[in-house]
Amino acid sequence: MRLVMKFGGTSLGAGSEIRCAASTVRNYSQQRNKIVVVVSAMSGVTDKLIEAAAEATLRNRDSTRLFLKNLEERHAQASRDAIISSEILDQTLASLNEQIAELENVLIGIGYLGELTSRSKDYAISFGEKLSTIVIAGALKDLGLRAEYFLGGQCGIVTDNCFGEAKPLMNITKQQVKEKLAPIFEAGVIAVVTGFTGTTQEGQTTTLGRDGSDYTATILGAALQVDEVWIWKDIDGLMTADPKVEPSAKTIPLLSFPEAMEMAYFGAKAIQAKALELAWESGIPIRVKNTFNLDGSGTLIVEKPQVRSERVVKAVTMINNVALITVSGGGMVGVPGIAAKVFSVIGEKNINVLMISQGSSEANISFIIPRSGLENAVNALELSLLGKGFVKEVTPETKVCIVTVVGAGMKGTPGVAARVFKAIANQGVNIRMIAQGSSELSISFVVEDSDGIKAVRALHEEFRFNC
Ligand code: ASP
Ligand code: MG
Repeated sequence: MRLVMKFGGTSLGAGSEIRCAASTVRNYSQQRNKIVVVVSAMSGVTDKLIEAAAEATLRNRDSTRLFLKNLEERHAQASRDAIISSEILDQTLASLNEQIAELENVLIGIGYLGELTSRSKDYAISFGEKLSTIVIAGALKDLGLRAEYFLGGQCGIVTDNCFGEAKPLMNITKQQVKEKLAPIFEAGVIAVVTGFTGTTQEGQTTTLGRDGSDYTATILGAALQVDEVWIWKDIDGLMTADPKVEPSAKTIPLLSFPEAMEMAYFGAKAIQAKALELAWESGIPIRVKNTFNLDGSGTLIVEKPQVRSERVVKAVTMINNVALITVSGGGMVGVPGIAAKVFSVIGEKNINVLMISQGSSEANISFIIPRSGLENAVNALELSLLGKGFVKEVTPETKVCIVTVVGAGMKGTPGVAARVFKAIANQGVNIRMIAQGSSELSISFVVEDSDGIKAVRALHEEFRFNC
Protein backbone atom coordinates (compact mmCIF):
# COMPACT_ATOMS: atom_id res chain seq x y z
CA MET A 1 0.00 0.00 0.00
CA ARG A 2 0.97 3.62 -0.43
CA LEU A 3 0.68 5.28 2.96
CA VAL A 4 1.23 8.53 4.82
CA MET A 5 1.79 7.82 8.52
CA LYS A 6 1.52 10.68 10.98
CA PHE A 7 2.82 10.33 14.52
CA GLY A 8 1.22 12.60 17.12
CA GLY A 9 3.05 14.24 20.02
CA THR A 10 1.55 11.87 22.58
CA SER A 11 3.07 8.92 20.68
CA LEU A 12 6.44 10.69 20.88
CA GLY A 13 6.69 11.54 24.57
CA ALA A 14 10.17 10.08 25.06
CA GLY A 15 12.99 8.19 23.33
CA SER A 16 11.54 4.72 23.99
CA GLU A 17 8.30 5.79 22.31
CA ILE A 18 10.16 7.27 19.36
CA ARG A 19 12.03 3.98 18.95
CA CYS A 20 8.72 2.15 19.09
CA ALA A 21 7.27 4.47 16.38
CA ALA A 22 10.37 3.90 14.22
CA SER A 23 10.11 0.12 14.49
CA THR A 24 6.43 0.32 13.56
CA VAL A 25 7.45 2.16 10.39
CA ARG A 26 10.11 -0.46 9.73
CA ASN A 27 7.62 -3.33 10.11
CA TYR A 28 5.18 -1.81 7.67
CA SER A 29 7.88 -0.86 5.19
CA GLN A 30 9.21 -4.42 5.27
CA GLN A 31 5.74 -5.54 4.21
CA ARG A 32 6.38 -3.68 0.95
CA ASN A 33 4.37 -0.57 1.78
CA LYS A 34 5.62 2.78 0.53
CA ILE A 35 5.57 5.25 3.40
CA VAL A 36 5.88 8.98 4.06
CA VAL A 37 6.25 9.78 7.77
CA VAL A 38 4.84 13.04 9.16
CA VAL A 39 5.95 14.05 12.63
CA SER A 40 4.39 16.29 15.32
CA ALA A 41 6.37 18.03 18.02
CA MET A 42 7.05 15.93 21.13
CA SER A 43 4.14 16.19 23.57
CA GLY A 44 3.76 19.62 25.16
CA VAL A 45 6.59 21.25 23.18
CA THR A 46 4.44 23.54 20.99
CA ASP A 47 2.68 24.99 24.05
CA LYS A 48 6.06 25.67 25.66
CA LEU A 49 7.37 27.31 22.47
CA ILE A 50 4.32 29.58 22.33
CA GLU A 51 5.01 30.66 25.93
CA ALA A 52 8.73 31.10 25.32
CA ALA A 53 8.14 33.22 22.21
CA ALA A 54 5.77 35.51 24.14
CA GLU A 55 8.22 35.76 27.04
CA ALA A 56 11.10 36.50 24.72
CA THR A 57 9.63 39.98 24.14
CA LEU A 58 10.49 40.76 27.79
CA ARG A 59 14.19 40.14 27.09
CA ASN A 60 14.61 37.91 30.09
CA ARG A 61 17.73 36.12 28.83
CA ASP A 62 17.94 33.76 31.82
CA SER A 63 14.49 32.34 31.31
CA THR A 64 15.12 31.98 27.54
CA ARG A 65 18.39 30.16 28.24
CA LEU A 66 16.74 27.83 30.73
CA PHE A 67 13.96 27.06 28.28
CA LEU A 68 16.45 26.24 25.51
CA LYS A 69 18.56 24.11 27.82
CA ASN A 70 15.53 22.00 28.83
CA LEU A 71 14.36 21.72 25.24
CA GLU A 72 17.77 20.58 24.09
CA GLU A 73 18.14 18.13 26.94
CA ARG A 74 14.75 16.53 26.30
CA HIS A 75 15.52 15.93 22.61
CA ALA A 76 19.10 14.84 23.29
CA GLN A 77 17.92 12.34 25.90
CA ALA A 78 15.25 11.05 23.52
CA SER A 79 17.94 10.61 20.85
CA ARG A 80 20.23 8.71 23.23
CA ASP A 81 17.33 6.40 24.10
CA ALA A 82 16.14 5.92 20.52
CA ILE A 83 19.43 5.60 18.62
CA ILE A 84 22.11 2.96 19.21
CA SER A 85 24.73 3.67 16.51
CA SER A 86 27.16 6.25 17.87
CA GLU A 87 27.75 7.69 14.42
CA ILE A 88 24.04 8.32 13.79
CA LEU A 89 23.61 9.59 17.33
CA ASP A 90 26.45 12.11 16.89
CA GLN A 91 24.95 13.37 13.62
CA THR A 92 21.55 13.66 15.26
CA LEU A 93 22.87 15.57 18.27
CA ALA A 94 24.80 17.92 15.95
CA SER A 95 21.65 18.66 13.92
CA LEU A 96 19.68 19.26 17.13
CA ASN A 97 22.36 21.70 18.33
CA GLU A 98 22.21 23.63 15.08
CA GLN A 99 18.45 24.03 15.40
CA ILE A 100 18.64 25.05 19.06
CA ALA A 101 21.26 27.69 18.18
CA GLU A 102 19.00 29.03 15.45
CA LEU A 103 16.00 29.10 17.78
CA GLU A 104 18.12 31.02 20.30
CA ASN A 105 18.84 33.65 17.65
CA VAL A 106 15.15 33.86 16.82
CA LEU A 107 14.17 34.37 20.47
CA ILE A 108 16.91 36.95 21.00
CA GLY A 109 15.73 38.75 17.86
CA ILE A 110 12.17 38.85 19.22
CA GLY A 111 13.62 40.34 22.42
CA TYR A 112 15.40 43.13 20.52
CA LEU A 113 12.25 44.01 18.62
CA GLY A 114 10.17 43.80 21.80
CA GLU A 115 7.19 42.48 19.86
CA LEU A 116 5.99 39.15 18.60
CA THR A 117 4.45 39.33 15.15
CA SER A 118 2.38 36.42 13.88
CA ARG A 119 5.13 35.80 11.33
CA SER A 120 7.94 35.51 13.86
CA LYS A 121 5.69 33.47 16.16
CA ASP A 122 5.13 30.92 13.38
CA TYR A 123 8.83 30.71 12.75
CA ALA A 124 9.56 30.18 16.45
CA ILE A 125 6.91 27.50 16.99
CA SER A 126 7.93 25.55 13.88
CA PHE A 127 11.01 24.40 15.84
CA GLY A 128 9.00 21.81 17.82
CA GLU A 129 8.49 19.74 14.68
CA LYS A 130 11.98 20.48 13.36
CA LEU A 131 13.52 18.97 16.47
CA SER A 132 11.27 15.91 16.83
CA THR A 133 11.64 15.06 13.14
CA ILE A 134 15.44 15.04 13.47
CA VAL A 135 15.17 12.48 16.25
CA ILE A 136 12.74 10.23 14.36
CA ALA A 137 14.80 10.41 11.17
CA GLY A 138 17.84 9.32 13.23
CA ALA A 139 15.89 6.47 14.83
CA LEU A 140 14.73 5.24 11.41
CA LYS A 141 18.27 5.30 10.02
CA ASP A 142 19.44 3.50 13.13
CA LEU A 143 17.05 0.67 12.27
CA GLY A 144 18.66 0.41 8.85
CA LEU A 145 16.01 2.24 6.86
CA ARG A 146 16.70 4.70 4.09
CA ALA A 147 15.20 7.91 5.44
CA GLU A 148 15.41 11.53 4.35
CA TYR A 149 14.50 14.62 6.38
CA PHE A 150 12.25 17.33 4.92
CA LEU A 151 10.72 20.54 6.19
CA GLY A 152 7.08 20.97 5.16
CA GLY A 153 8.12 23.73 2.75
CA GLN A 154 11.02 21.72 1.34
CA CYS A 155 8.76 18.90 0.26
CA GLY A 156 6.44 21.34 -1.49
CA ILE A 157 3.77 22.54 0.95
CA VAL A 158 3.08 26.11 -0.19
CA THR A 159 0.54 28.16 1.77
CA ASP A 160 -1.12 31.57 1.83
CA ASN A 161 0.38 34.08 4.27
CA CYS A 162 -2.28 33.79 6.95
CA PHE A 163 0.30 33.08 9.69
CA GLY A 164 -0.94 30.83 12.48
CA GLU A 165 -3.79 29.38 10.38
CA ALA A 166 -2.19 29.10 6.95
CA LYS A 167 -4.02 27.26 4.18
CA PRO A 168 -2.21 25.25 1.54
CA LEU A 169 -2.41 26.50 -2.04
CA MET A 170 -3.36 23.07 -3.25
CA ASN A 171 -2.61 23.42 -6.95
CA ILE A 172 0.98 24.56 -6.50
CA THR A 173 1.41 22.25 -3.54
CA LYS A 174 0.32 19.18 -5.50
CA GLN A 175 2.64 20.05 -8.33
CA GLN A 176 5.60 20.74 -6.03
CA VAL A 177 5.07 17.66 -3.86
CA LYS A 178 4.97 15.58 -7.03
CA GLU A 179 8.25 17.09 -8.13
CA LYS A 180 10.07 17.02 -4.81
CA LEU A 181 8.66 14.13 -2.84
CA ALA A 182 7.18 11.65 -5.31
CA PRO A 183 10.51 10.41 -6.77
CA ILE A 184 11.80 9.61 -3.28
CA PHE A 185 8.52 8.01 -2.27
CA GLU A 186 8.36 5.87 -5.41
CA ALA A 187 11.98 4.79 -4.88
CA GLY A 188 11.00 3.37 -1.48
CA VAL A 189 12.99 5.92 0.55
CA ILE A 190 11.12 7.07 3.65
CA ALA A 191 10.61 10.83 3.61
CA VAL A 192 10.35 12.10 7.20
CA VAL A 193 8.48 15.40 7.10
CA THR A 194 8.00 18.05 9.80
CA GLY A 195 4.26 18.33 10.37
CA PHE A 196 2.40 21.59 11.04
CA THR A 197 4.55 23.80 8.80
CA GLY A 198 4.62 25.10 5.27
CA THR A 199 6.08 28.06 3.47
CA THR A 200 4.61 31.05 1.66
CA GLN A 201 5.44 31.65 -1.98
CA GLU A 202 8.05 34.13 -0.73
CA GLY A 203 9.66 31.40 1.38
CA GLN A 204 8.49 32.43 4.87
CA THR A 205 7.64 29.68 7.33
CA THR A 206 3.93 29.32 8.18
CA THR A 207 2.00 27.01 10.50
CA LEU A 208 -1.25 25.27 9.65
CA GLY A 209 -3.22 25.84 12.88
CA ARG A 210 -3.09 23.81 16.10
CA ASP A 211 -2.95 20.07 15.50
CA GLY A 212 -1.84 20.97 11.99
CA SER A 213 0.35 17.89 11.54
CA ASP A 214 -2.83 16.00 10.70
CA TYR A 215 -3.32 18.55 7.94
CA THR A 216 0.25 18.01 6.69
CA ALA A 217 -0.52 14.29 6.48
CA THR A 218 -3.66 14.70 4.42
CA ILE A 219 -2.10 17.40 2.21
CA LEU A 220 0.72 15.01 1.32
CA GLY A 221 -1.75 12.12 1.03
CA ALA A 222 -3.84 14.11 -1.44
CA ALA A 223 -0.81 15.23 -3.44
CA LEU A 224 0.67 11.72 -3.66
CA GLN A 225 -2.75 10.07 -4.06
CA VAL A 226 -1.95 7.47 -1.40
CA ASP A 227 -4.25 4.58 -0.49
CA GLU A 228 -4.71 5.65 3.13
CA VAL A 229 -3.50 8.20 5.67
CA TRP A 230 -2.74 6.64 9.06
CA ILE A 231 -2.87 8.84 12.15
CA TRP A 232 -0.97 7.21 15.01
CA LYS A 233 -2.08 8.23 18.51
CA ASP A 234 -1.98 6.99 22.07
CA ILE A 235 -5.60 5.78 21.94
CA ASP A 236 -7.19 2.95 19.97
CA GLY A 237 -9.13 5.22 17.63
CA LEU A 238 -12.18 7.43 17.85
CA MET A 239 -14.23 6.41 20.85
CA THR A 240 -17.95 6.21 21.65
CA ALA A 241 -17.26 8.72 24.48
CA ASP A 242 -14.28 10.23 26.27
CA PRO A 243 -12.96 7.29 28.33
CA LYS A 244 -12.12 9.71 31.15
CA VAL A 245 -15.83 10.51 31.40
CA GLU A 246 -17.22 7.05 30.61
CA PRO A 247 -14.76 4.25 31.39
CA SER A 248 -16.70 1.69 29.34
CA ALA A 249 -16.23 3.77 26.14
CA LYS A 250 -15.30 1.64 23.11
CA THR A 251 -13.42 2.22 19.89
CA ILE A 252 -15.67 2.86 16.89
CA PRO A 253 -14.44 0.58 14.08
CA LEU A 254 -15.95 2.43 11.11
CA LEU A 255 -17.11 6.00 10.61
CA SER A 256 -18.05 8.18 7.67
CA PHE A 257 -16.25 11.48 7.03
CA PRO A 258 -19.34 13.55 7.92
CA GLU A 259 -19.62 11.71 11.23
CA ALA A 260 -15.93 12.17 12.00
CA MET A 261 -16.22 15.88 11.13
CA GLU A 262 -19.16 16.24 13.46
CA MET A 263 -17.14 14.60 16.23
CA ALA A 264 -14.18 16.90 15.59
CA TYR A 265 -16.42 19.95 15.93
CA PHE A 266 -18.03 18.60 19.06
CA GLY A 267 -15.09 18.06 21.29
CA ALA A 268 -13.75 14.61 20.29
CA LYS A 269 -10.55 16.29 19.19
CA ALA A 270 -9.13 13.23 17.55
CA ILE A 271 -8.37 14.64 14.11
CA GLN A 272 -8.08 18.22 12.93
CA ALA A 273 -11.25 19.19 11.05
CA LYS A 274 -9.41 20.79 8.10
CA ALA A 275 -7.38 17.63 7.67
CA LEU A 276 -10.53 15.53 7.61
CA GLU A 277 -12.18 17.80 5.10
CA LEU A 278 -9.28 17.56 2.69
CA ALA A 279 -9.11 13.76 2.93
CA TRP A 280 -12.85 13.61 2.36
CA GLU A 281 -12.64 15.84 -0.73
CA SER A 282 -9.73 13.79 -2.04
CA GLY A 283 -11.41 10.44 -1.37
CA ILE A 284 -8.56 9.17 0.81
CA PRO A 285 -9.57 7.05 3.82
CA ILE A 286 -8.07 7.87 7.21
CA ARG A 287 -7.18 5.21 9.76
CA VAL A 288 -6.59 6.13 13.40
CA LYS A 289 -4.31 3.67 15.17
CA ASN A 290 -2.63 3.26 18.55
CA THR A 291 1.19 3.16 18.68
CA PHE A 292 0.91 1.34 22.00
CA ASN A 293 -1.52 -1.32 20.76
CA LEU A 294 -0.42 -2.39 17.31
CA ASP A 295 -2.91 -5.24 17.12
CA GLY A 296 -5.92 -2.98 17.58
CA SER A 297 -7.69 -2.39 14.29
CA GLY A 298 -8.34 1.28 15.17
CA THR A 299 -10.97 3.42 13.47
CA LEU A 300 -11.34 3.60 9.70
CA ILE A 301 -12.94 6.74 8.28
CA VAL A 302 -14.38 6.36 4.80
CA GLU A 303 -16.49 8.35 2.41
CA LYS A 304 -19.86 6.62 2.42
CA PRO A 305 -22.01 7.14 5.51
CA GLN A 306 -22.76 3.83 7.16
CA VAL A 307 -26.48 4.47 7.25
CA ARG A 308 -27.23 0.81 7.40
CA SER A 309 -25.11 0.31 10.51
CA GLU A 310 -27.29 -1.09 13.28
CA ARG A 311 -26.23 1.87 15.41
CA VAL A 312 -28.06 5.11 14.70
CA VAL A 313 -25.99 6.97 17.26
CA LYS A 314 -22.26 6.31 17.20
CA ALA A 315 -20.77 8.61 19.83
CA VAL A 316 -21.56 11.06 22.57
CA THR A 317 -19.24 13.99 23.20
CA MET A 318 -19.02 16.84 25.68
CA ILE A 319 -17.52 20.34 25.38
CA ASN A 320 -16.62 22.16 28.59
CA ASN A 321 -15.26 25.66 29.07
CA VAL A 322 -18.08 27.26 27.16
CA ALA A 323 -20.54 30.00 28.10
CA LEU A 324 -24.14 30.75 27.17
CA ILE A 325 -25.27 34.24 26.15
CA THR A 326 -28.93 35.14 25.78
CA VAL A 327 -29.90 38.36 24.03
CA SER A 328 -33.53 39.19 24.75
CA GLY A 329 -36.17 41.88 24.43
CA GLY A 330 -39.79 42.20 23.31
CA GLY A 331 -38.65 44.80 20.74
CA MET A 332 -36.75 42.10 18.81
CA VAL A 333 -39.97 40.43 17.62
CA GLY A 334 -40.52 40.77 13.88
CA VAL A 335 -37.55 43.13 13.38
CA PRO A 336 -35.23 42.02 10.58
CA GLY A 337 -31.48 42.29 11.07
CA ILE A 338 -31.20 41.69 14.83
CA ALA A 339 -29.53 38.29 14.48
CA ALA A 340 -27.18 39.70 11.84
CA LYS A 341 -26.23 42.52 14.20
CA VAL A 342 -25.64 40.18 17.16
CA PHE A 343 -23.37 37.83 15.23
CA SER A 344 -21.46 40.53 13.43
CA VAL A 345 -20.58 42.07 16.81
CA ILE A 346 -19.31 38.66 17.98
CA GLY A 347 -17.52 38.07 14.67
CA GLU A 348 -15.75 41.43 14.84
CA LYS A 349 -14.34 40.40 18.20
CA ASN A 350 -13.02 37.23 16.58
CA ILE A 351 -15.04 35.01 18.89
CA ASN A 352 -16.16 31.62 17.67
CA VAL A 353 -19.85 30.68 18.02
CA LEU A 354 -20.38 26.98 18.71
CA MET A 355 -24.15 26.71 18.86
CA ILE A 356 -27.15 28.97 18.15
CA SER A 357 -30.84 28.76 18.92
CA GLN A 358 -33.81 31.06 18.54
CA GLY A 359 -37.42 30.22 19.33
CA SER A 360 -40.20 31.26 16.99
CA SER A 361 -41.34 33.92 19.48
CA GLU A 362 -38.18 35.76 18.35
CA ALA A 363 -37.96 37.47 21.74
CA ASN A 364 -34.56 35.96 22.43
CA ILE A 365 -31.51 34.49 20.75
CA SER A 366 -29.21 32.17 22.68
CA PHE A 367 -25.77 31.05 21.66
CA ILE A 368 -22.67 29.37 23.00
CA ILE A 369 -19.11 30.69 22.79
CA PRO A 370 -15.79 29.65 24.38
CA ARG A 371 -15.73 30.79 28.01
CA SER A 372 -12.52 32.73 27.45
CA GLY A 373 -14.36 35.16 25.13
CA LEU A 374 -17.31 35.84 27.44
CA GLU A 375 -16.36 39.16 28.98
CA ASN A 376 -15.29 40.58 25.67
CA ALA A 377 -18.49 39.38 23.96
CA VAL A 378 -20.86 40.70 26.63
CA ASN A 379 -19.20 44.13 26.71
CA ALA A 380 -19.33 44.44 22.95
CA LEU A 381 -22.97 43.32 22.77
CA GLU A 382 -24.06 45.69 25.53
CA LEU A 383 -22.27 48.57 23.92
CA SER A 384 -23.80 48.10 20.50
CA LEU A 385 -27.28 46.73 21.31
CA LEU A 386 -28.63 48.17 24.56
CA GLY A 387 -30.67 51.37 24.70
CA LYS A 388 -31.75 51.26 21.06
CA GLY A 389 -35.27 49.98 21.74
CA PHE A 390 -34.86 46.42 20.49
CA VAL A 391 -32.69 44.49 22.91
CA LYS A 392 -33.48 44.76 26.61
CA GLU A 393 -30.98 42.41 28.14
CA VAL A 394 -27.75 40.51 27.48
CA THR A 395 -27.51 37.64 29.97
CA PRO A 396 -24.32 35.59 30.35
CA GLU A 397 -24.05 32.20 32.05
CA THR A 398 -20.79 30.43 32.64
CA LYS A 399 -21.54 27.10 34.27
CA VAL A 400 -22.71 25.19 31.22
CA CYS A 401 -21.45 22.52 28.83
CA ILE A 402 -22.55 21.11 25.48
CA VAL A 403 -23.43 17.44 25.07
CA THR A 404 -23.76 16.06 21.54
CA VAL A 405 -24.83 12.73 20.09
CA VAL A 406 -23.41 11.97 16.63
CA GLY A 407 -24.43 9.44 14.00
CA ALA A 408 -25.36 9.46 10.30
CA GLY A 409 -28.07 6.87 10.99
CA MET A 410 -30.16 9.52 12.78
CA LYS A 411 -31.03 11.06 9.43
CA GLY A 412 -34.60 10.16 8.71
CA THR A 413 -34.89 7.81 11.72
CA PRO A 414 -37.78 9.03 13.88
CA GLY A 415 -37.59 8.77 17.65
CA VAL A 416 -33.88 9.39 18.24
CA ALA A 417 -34.44 12.82 19.79
CA ALA A 418 -37.18 11.35 21.98
CA ARG A 419 -34.78 8.69 23.26
CA VAL A 420 -32.07 11.28 23.90
CA PHE A 421 -34.29 13.63 25.90
CA LYS A 422 -36.07 10.86 27.80
CA ALA A 423 -32.73 9.43 28.92
CA ILE A 424 -31.68 12.89 30.12
CA ALA A 425 -35.01 13.57 31.83
CA ASN A 426 -34.78 10.24 33.68
CA GLN A 427 -31.59 11.57 35.29
CA GLY A 428 -33.44 14.67 36.48
CA VAL A 429 -31.13 16.81 34.33
CA ASN A 430 -32.49 20.11 33.07
CA ILE A 431 -31.80 21.04 29.41
CA ARG A 432 -31.08 24.73 28.78
CA MET A 433 -30.85 24.87 25.01
CA ILE A 434 -31.15 22.48 22.07
CA ALA A 435 -29.90 22.53 18.48
CA GLN A 436 -29.99 20.09 15.61
CA GLY A 437 -28.54 20.96 12.22
CA SER A 438 -30.60 20.09 9.17
CA SER A 439 -27.90 17.58 8.22
CA GLU A 440 -29.36 15.49 11.07
CA LEU A 441 -25.91 14.13 11.84
CA SER A 442 -25.99 15.29 15.43
CA ILE A 443 -28.19 16.60 18.21
CA SER A 444 -26.60 19.02 20.68
CA PHE A 445 -27.95 20.36 23.92
CA VAL A 446 -26.71 22.47 26.78
CA VAL A 447 -26.84 21.47 30.44
CA GLU A 448 -25.32 22.74 33.69
CA ASP A 449 -21.62 21.95 33.95
CA SER A 450 -22.24 19.72 36.94
CA ASP A 451 -24.75 17.60 34.97
CA GLY A 452 -22.50 17.00 31.93
CA ILE A 453 -20.92 13.73 33.00
CA LYS A 454 -24.28 12.35 34.15
CA ALA A 455 -25.79 13.21 30.74
CA VAL A 456 -22.94 11.60 28.76
CA ARG A 457 -23.18 8.41 30.83
CA ALA A 458 -26.97 8.22 30.52
CA LEU A 459 -26.74 8.46 26.72
CA HIS A 460 -23.91 5.95 26.54
CA GLU A 461 -26.17 3.56 28.41
CA GLU A 462 -29.30 4.42 26.39
CA PHE A 463 -27.62 3.69 23.06
CA ARG A 464 -25.98 0.58 24.49
CA PHE A 465 -22.45 1.53 23.46
CA ASN A 466 -21.08 -0.57 26.27
CA CYS A 467 -22.47 -3.83 24.84
N1 ASP B 1 2.64 20.65 17.30
C1 ASP B 1 1.47 21.28 16.79
C2 ASP B 1 0.44 21.47 17.89
O1 ASP B 1 0.68 21.07 19.02
C3 ASP B 1 0.89 20.53 15.64
C4 ASP B 1 0.44 19.12 15.94
O2 ASP B 1 0.70 18.59 17.02
O3 ASP B 1 -0.21 18.53 15.09
O4 ASP B 1 -0.59 22.02 17.65
MG1 MG C 1 -0.34 17.86 18.78
